[in-house]
Amino acid sequence: MSVIGVVALQGDFREHARILAGMGHDVFPLRRESELDLVDAIVLPGGESSTQDKLMRAFGLREPLMRAIADGMPVLGSCAGMIMLAHDLADGIDGQQTLEAIPMTVRRNAFGRQVDSSEMTIEWIDGSPMHATFIRAPWVEAWDDSVEVLAAVDVDGVTHPVAVRHANAIATSFHPEISGDSRVHALLTEAIG
Ligand code: GLN
Repeated sequence: MSVIGVVALQGDFREHARILAGMGHDVFPLRRESELDLVDAIVLPGGESSTQDKLMRAFGLREPLMRAIADGMPVLGSCAGMIMLAHDLADGIDGQQTLEAIPMTVRRNAFGRQVDSSEMTIEWIDGSPMHATFIRAPWVEAWDDSVEVLAAVDVDGVTHPVAVRHANAIATSFHPEISGDSRVHALLTEAIG
């Protein structure tokens, strides 16, 4: 059984905790640098990335998280968590920073500001269907060759990744913690050495 820290500064950390606990893992809300020593993997939840960024810096967590991820700690980010993992942002607010973990550009609120939320069935990496919940969701707009695309949507003939993996980091535009599908979280826990 692994110990997973869900970064709990803002957003839907309880939903991630519920699904991971249901898979048999020990989960706790992570808010301090010292707690990084206690975990095998990290989750960055959905919420509001610009607020999460400010809180992460105020709590002195940004650099420690960047170091832990660079040192190989498995991490999963959903929605705002995907934004936090991106190297670059399109449509970030002034001065918005990220953890710069995945060499990709992520567009915030990519499906249009008026599109509050939507449900879609997407094709998962193994060809199977996955029910996905998108809430003011980002998508990946540009990505390095080293980024593995796990799922994508086509909008107006252009392919936009909505789930990606790069080394020990996994990111989804959608909310697997809300739909209750544990396949994405399973990729995270499989990455624990
Ligand atoms: N639009 C939000 C942001 O920019 C993300 C939305 C979400 O996490 N559901 O952070």
